[in-house]
Amino acid sequence: MIRRKIAQFMWGRYGARGFDKLGTALFTVGFVSCFVGLFFRGTVSRILFGVQAVCYIYLIFRLLSKNIPARQKENAAFCNFFKKVKNFFKLQKDRVKDRKTSVYKKCPKCSAVLKLPAIKGEHTVKCPRCGERFTVKNIF
Ligand SMILES: [Zn+2]
Repeated sequence: MIRRKIAQFMWGRYGARGFDKLGTALFTVGFVSCFVGLFFRGTVSRILFGVQAVCYIYLIFRLLSKNIPARQKENAAFCNFFKKVKNFFKLQKDRVKDRKTSVYKKCPKCSAVLKLPAIKGEHTVKCPRCGERFTVKNIF
């Protein structure tokens, strides 16, 4: 009975499909800020609980929203942003891992990051993405 009432209430709402990636991120950030807030007092604690409140209010708003295309757009934008952050950290990790065999240089035209063999001297490099030719100096 109650289960059916909830199902009827959620019908046509974004939350009926469960959590998306943005929903999971909001839940996690809210939970972590609440947990960390337990170890602080005063202003820091209040700020962290405020972060939690904002995350959970936004999460509930999204779950109950009937404007599904807008919520999907928000989730897509978040996924795109999250992918960029993840790629940035993967690049930093690879830079450290390959520091003895490779150098990473940015293309001056399209900003693509190129992985080049670490060979001493001055080299001309052609960017595989945009075709721009530029010189790279390896001093190590
Ligand atoms: Zn390029």
